[in-house]
Amino acid sequence: MISSIKNKLILTLLLLCTSIIVITGTISIIVLDNFYENQIIDDLKIKTNEIKYFIGIPKGNNEDAYEQLQKLTKEGKYRLTLIDSVGNVIFDSDIQENELGKLDNHLLRSEIVQALESGVGVSKRFSNTIKNEMQYLALRIEPRLPLNSIFSKAYFIRISIPLNKIKFATNEVKSTIIILCSLAFLIIAVVTFIISGKITHPLKSMADIAIEIKKGSLDKRISYNSKDELGELATSINSMVDTMNEDIVQLKKLEKMRREFLGNVSHELRTPIFAIQGLLETLLNGALEDSDVRKDFVARALLNTKRLDTLLDELITISSIETGEMKMSFRYFNLQEFLSQSIFEMEPLAESFNVKLKLEKIDNNIEVYGDKEKLKQVVINLIQNGIKYNIPKGTVVISTMKEADQIKIIIKDSGVGISEEHISRIFERFYRIDKERSRDMGGTGLGLAIAKHIVEAHGNKLEVLSELQKGSKFSFTLQRSKI
Ligand code: ADP
Repeated sequence: MISSIKNKLILTLLLLCTSIIVITGTISIIVLDNFYENQIIDDLKIKTNEIKYFIGIPKGNNEDAYEQLQKLTKEGKYRLTLIDSVGNVIFDSDIQENELGKLDNHLLRSEIVQALESGVGVSKRFSNTIKNEMQYLALRIEPRLPLNSIFSKAYFIRISIPLNKIKFATNEVKSTIIILCSLAFLIIAVVTFIISGKITHPLKSMADIAIEIKKGSLDKRISYNSKDELGELATSINSMVDTMNEDIVQLKKLEKMRREFLGNVSHELRTPIFAIQGLLETLLNGALEDSDVRKDFVARALLNTKRLDTLLDELITISSIETGEMKMSFRYFNLQEFLSQSIFEMEPLAESFNVKLKLEKIDNNIEVYGDKEKLKQVVINLIQNGIKYNIPKGTVVISTMKEADQIKIIIKDSGVGISEEHISRIFERFYRIDKERSRDMGGTGLGLAIAKHIVEAHGNKLEVLSELQKGSKFSFTLQRSKI
């Protein structure tokens, strides 16, 4: 409990305030005591001077001077002692004249010693005579009183008052100070509780939400909009969770794609393997005897092994592209020669599909920059698709278009076309509009995904325009030499 920030804050603030209040209170009381003490000493000084004046008046026929002086001091509520130069008490307001002889010699009293030395002496101590804590002030009479004065022998005037009187006067002020200090402490304590609560409440809710987030509730956000440091912290935590959320969405998407890809791969691998297995089993179960069937089955099994080979090749290519391991080797090469060669290689396939391949006229001195082998794979794939998804007697036209320092390569077919809903997805791995048709033609659904990556590795985009039943137009640009 003590370890919570709120408690620490409260404890620290209260300790601090208590120390300040106690120190201030104590200092005030000490200052007050000193002030009163000084005030009393000043007061006593005035009184001693009054006494000095009184005892200095000529004796005349003033026979009861002792009594008169006693009366005077009684009114002033203080004790007066007159002491001669050798320390004998010659007057004491609290003692009758005939009792004076019983008193000790006063010459060694602290205030008298001081007064002898410097004229005035002050001391505070317990009086055995009065049985009380007393404040004393002694004054040395200099010059000496005239010989005819009433107390001509007096050398020291000493006045004292009980300290409890001073204490009584200051106690009231002291208790007011103590009450005020306690009140200040109470107010500070309440304010401390409120402020600590206000400061630590958002911290507590932030901590709670952070725990929730840690447990996986990424939809939780801290609602603290103040423009202070805590507000900044809340905003940072919220945006951190936002980013985490987005990252997790991304990761989940990637994970889903990975799972789908693995599912697709195993499915694609299984299809030709099962086909081969079926053919071989049928052969073993007797078809081997029939020479026509045997030849056909073996040919079909071979075709499936070729499909497996193509599939594995393309899988290796796509994984090397996606892991960034695909090495590119850029150089200039002749475009016309490159396209003619590609068309030449595709001629047998085109013939088998009864599709015409056509290369539009192109300058034979145009050099383009890129990885020739990989671009060949792109062009072959695009021509192959143009042939495969075409109609009998259809055409695939390969043309070029100069653009500033680039040249566009266009492969246009008169085939089945691609509808709007499929067009954005045909570049995805394994995406095939008509699975059966694609598979029948030895397609893997990876060709366009690979082609797109290769074109992008050249810093360009593989684009497509298509219209159902009319045909498709695939194009990409390459950097060309300036001739
Ligand atoms: P596949 O091995 O199936 O040809 P691709 O990645 O090359 O794989 O193409 C993906 C899909 O896009 C094809 O299955 C096909 O449905 C569609 N497609 C590609 N090229 C064309 C085209 N020229 N005309 C119509 N459809 C096409």
